[in-house]
Amino acid sequence: MTLRDPLHWVPVRYKLALMFLSVCMLAFGVGGTLVSRSAEGALEGEILRRMEFQSRAYATALDGHLKMLVSRSEDFASDGFIRDHAAKLQAAVTDGEAQQLRAELRRHLLVNKLPLVEDFTDLSILALDGRVLLAAREAPDEREAAELSEAASRGAARCSEWLPARAQGGLPRVAIATPLLDRDDGTRIGSLVTWVHPGVWIVGALRANELGEASAEGQVDLLLIDREGARLAVHSSLTEGDGPSHDSDLVRSGFGLDLLPPEEARETSGAHGGTDRHLFSRSFEVATNGWSVRVDRRAESLMTAVAGLQSRFLGVGMILAIGASLLLFFPMRFLARPLLQLASAARRIQGGDFSARVEVDSTDEIGVLGESFNAMAKAIEERTERLEESAAELRHGQRELRAERDRLNAVIASMRDGLVVLDASGKPVLWNRAAGPLLGQLEVGALRMQSHHACERRKLDEDSCLRCLLDVRSEPRSCVMEIAGGVYEVHSTRLSQEDGGRAGRVLVSRDLTDRIAQDERQIHQERLAVLGEVAAVVAHELNNPLAAISMYNQMLATDLGGDRELSESVDVIQRNVETCKRTIRELLDYASDVTPEITPVSIADVLEDVSIFLRPLRERSGVELETDCPQEPILVSGDETQIRQVFVNLVVNAIQAMGPSGGRIEVSARRDGEHVVVDVSDDGAGVPQGARDAIFRPFFTTKRRGEGTGLGLSTSRRIAEMYGGGLELISTGPTGTTFRVRLRARQEQPA
Ligand code: ADP
Repeated sequence: MTLRDPLHWVPVRYKLALMFLSVCMLAFGVGGTLVSRSAEGALEGEILRRMEFQSRAYATALDGHLKMLVSRSEDFASDGFIRDHAAKLQAAVTDGEAQQLRAELRRHLLVNKLPLVEDFTDLSILALDGRVLLAAREAPDEREAAELSEAASRGAARCSEWLPARAQGGLPRVAIATPLLDRDDGTRIGSLVTWVHPGVWIVGALRANELGEASAEGQVDLLLIDREGARLAVHSSLTEGDGPSHDSDLVRSGFGLDLLPPEEARETSGAHGGTDRHLFSRSFEVATNGWSVRVDRRAESLMTAVAGLQSRFLGVGMILAIGASLLLFFPMRFLARPLLQLASAARRIQGGDFSARVEVDSTDEIGVLGESFNAMAKAIEERTERLEESAAELRHGQRELRAERDRLNAVIASMRDGLVVLDASGKPVLWNRAAGPLLGQLEVGALRMQSHHACERRKLDEDSCLRCLLDVRSEPRSCVMEIAGGVYEVHSTRLSQEDGGRAGRVLVSRDLTDRIAQDERQIHQERLAVLGEVAAVVAHELNNPLAAISMYNQMLATDLGGDRELSESVDVIQRNVETCKRTIRELLDYASDVTPEITPVSIADVLEDVSIFLRPLRERSGVELETDCPQEPILVSGDETQIRQVFVNLVVNAIQAMGPSGGRIEVSARRDGEHVVVDVSDDGAGVPQGARDAIFRPFFTTKRRGEGTGLGLSTSRRIAEMYGGGLELISTGPTGTTFRVRLRARQEQPA
């Protein structure tokens, strides 16, 4: 399985920047976190150790100071004056006596005892039953007095729990209750309660032991917690080393002391410590009264250094990442940029611009890659040029081939002979129009292949020969066959194949029908020629008797005078003689082999002669003749008599085609290339429908016996063909007929 780059769509430069950024962030983030965690742990341990030591030191100092206060209380309780007066006060019978004793005792307490200890704020004398016998300054309430008396009754000086301030703005209080013993028998006679100023006690103890935190080490909260959990919070300003002294007014005013209610589920005894996210604390017991001293420190302030460490690591990581990204300029310049150039050049080549190259200015791997790319692009460019040249040559060759093929197709199509190319299986694959009849035969299966052995025979009958045309293995042969009423000669040729595959066949069919018809006509002509010669001899032999008949008939007509009946008979004889003469003349013309006398002949002159010559006949028939010749003379080379004969025949036919009411004949001549064209048009009845194909045949006539010989058109065509032209029927119908005579024009015209 191939591993695909998950960021394959991101450009390399961003990937590199991302990689550097990730490496830096990972290194400094994870490393920084680990380092700061271990530093944090070490710092926490150190802080807790120090706090434990501190709480122990505080507890020891406070304990020592309290011990001193307790012993001073006991000193006061052993004072004889106090003890005597206390006993007397309880035994006094009169108020005046009691008054006196109280005044003496109060003054003694105020003057001789209270000033001795700064920490003491008041002194009270309690009776055995807990009554307040006397208070130096302010009497405690009865409940407090009873509790203190009860504490003192256990035999030794005892410290009270925290007592709340008596008035708004007053101080939280603590008292030491000490039993008063009789001077004589040592029995307990009451209690001495010494009221201690908490601020002076705490600050005095700390100052005396030179305990105090430098403010630079952070805020320290000191808590003195009694056995019932009531807490006296000491403001950090009082615990600082350079804070107010125990006898200052600030301390005496009770500043920074705050009595808090018991805390729920908080262990306060012993040297232990705990940390939460905000607070470090350690506590230690005050031995004298079973209280505990707790030292709290805010975590944020203490851990600032470590927290800074982590963020400093991150900061350094960020700076390094940014620096690394900036340093990417170099890999970008020397690695990514050449790669981008390569990519852009590759795109240009893909788009067809094979001239695309990259700059190579180094010899490292990138440089080698660039050089290889350039070499590849050059090779592609050269190969593409060669390919384009080959393609152009191919296109040229293809065009030539197509032209050749078109030429070949045109040649094949224009062939009068039919051509069919058969493939090796005898299937027609190419043919031309003239091959239609032969193809038809192939399709209807008339030319089924004969067995090969039969085709090998040298002599074959006609039918087998035809069938063997398709046998590609047998010798090519030729056959004559009848197809669709025509006679065709079919040649079969083997089609060689250069790649050695099976050869096909080429069949060429030639239509022999016309040639056979022509041959037949030739034979007919030859027969006619013989007949003509005979006719000429006969005509010649008949001419003399006819001349004699005609002469004697005319003499007879002269001699007959007025005999009308005989005159008519003589006329009949004369007309028939004329008809015979004309027939004989035409026969002689047709069979004439007189050598023609070739001279330049003007068509205009000939047509003029014809018009004049035939005027009597025209006028008798009521026919108009109009001749249209161009101004410039049109000359042909030929025998003038023969050429005139052509137009006489045509005009006579036209006159004869008119009805009794006459008509109009138009003869127009013009030059058409190498020929002179003369159209003879009439508005007669037209050639009869069934006679159109036969009118050029000799002796064909539709006229009555004696009127036509059937030699006019055939003689005229022969003469026209003799002079390089021809005669054809252009149009015919009930509205008229047009014949066209074509004669080769004389080349050099007279100046
Ligand atoms: P002939 O005139 O002696 O019959 P032709 O060879 O001159 O012999 O004419 C052959 C036939 O052609 C005529 O018999 C006639 O039927 C027809 N023909 C020739 N010219 C015309 C014409 N102008 N109009 C109608 N039919 C014509």
